[in-house]
Amino acid sequence: MQPVVEDPRLRPILEKVRAGDRLSYEDGLALYHTPDILALGYMANLVRERLHGDLTYFNVNRHINPTDVCVASCRLCAFGKRVKDPKAYTMSLDEVWHRAGEGWSEAVTEFHIVGGLHPELTLEWYCEMLRGLKERFPQVHLKAFTMVEVGYLARRSKLSARETLERLRDAGMDSLPGGGAEIFCERVRRIICDHKITGDEWIDTARTAHQLGLRSNCTMLYGHIENEEDRVDHLLRLRALQDETGGFVTFIPLAFHPDNTALHHIPKTTGFDDIKSIAAARLLLDNIPHIKAYWIMMTPRIAQIALRFGADDIDGTVVEEKIYHDAGATTSQSLRRAELLALIRKAGREPMERDTLYRPVTRTESTFTVLV
Ligand code: SF4
Repeated sequence: MQPVVEDPRLRPILEKVRAGDRLSYEDGLALYHTPDILALGYMANLVRERLHGDLTYFNVNRHINPTDVCVASCRLCAFGKRVKDPKAYTMSLDEVWHRAGEGWSEAVTEFHIVGGLHPELTLEWYCEMLRGLKERFPQVHLKAFTMVEVGYLARRSKLSARETLERLRDAGMDSLPGGGAEIFCERVRRIICDHKITGDEWIDTARTAHQLGLRSNCTMLYGHIENEEDRVDHLLRLRALQDETGGFVTFIPLAFHPDNTALHHIPKTTGFDDIKSIAAARLLLDNIPHIKAYWIMMTPRIAQIALRFGADDIDGTVVEEKIYHDAGATTSQSLRRAELLALIRKAGREPMERDTLYRPVTRTESTFTVLV
């Protein structure tokens, strides 16, 4: 079937997509500027089905946020709290290990662990946390720490990012979730998250992790004060690093949620923005295997539609999400495995449970096996 391409700017891009050619910076801008969402979706779906057919991946995972205490005060954030804030919390190691076990009922295959930049928790404390989790849940993959947390732990420990990553890896960290990238453009970063590592430092930390054999995801926070040029620049910098290392597994576009942040005056993203971000990413990031529609952030309804606009992954059961819910997310904090299966099947796609590295998982009621 011939697609109807109403926007003439997209016609040469469609030819490139059909031929499997790489898209340029200018093409990326055209993708973000066009209102022709159906043509965009057609092209992104072409690539998605070329790579994955109908397969749609999900996992059974649990989020753990050991602390929301943070020395940074990013204007984009509703999660981080000052150490003296009465609402702030920091789990003890026993609490982390106990909390991890509460998600065990569906035999999780992954713990997703991120938190604030705590002024007192040491690198050794985090290594102990990882060792304790590995001891108690040896089959569970530990996907832990944003590049920003790694940078902060390195600075506090007076170690290089490489040495810090090595210690975390040796203690049990299996991969990194790719958070903290936000938007690499320094003009924007200075306003939304000026206490964080720079965009170049984020890229350098990811490069080092990949060189050490650790895989990671990558992200982009959109829908705040950035413009389309900033978005395309961000995606192309990720694509360039992927050409170099091949270490990224999945790209996850993250919509900015303004509630309870210093940027609360900014309107929330629309479904149109969210779908477009998925499709543009699928088309520009030709070397990153997976594009995730993170249902917590997009809502399950929009994430389901995204499965026809370039996304091949819908994330996991999550169990307990704090970061987006502190910023006003109205989605549930968890979905059961059966609910994820139904969402995917009703979109006409074929669900495949995966582990963090996209190996197929087969399971009984309470156990699982990863095909390696
Ligand atoms: S975004 Fe991360 S680093 Fe910034 S204040 Fe929030 S928790 Fe801290």
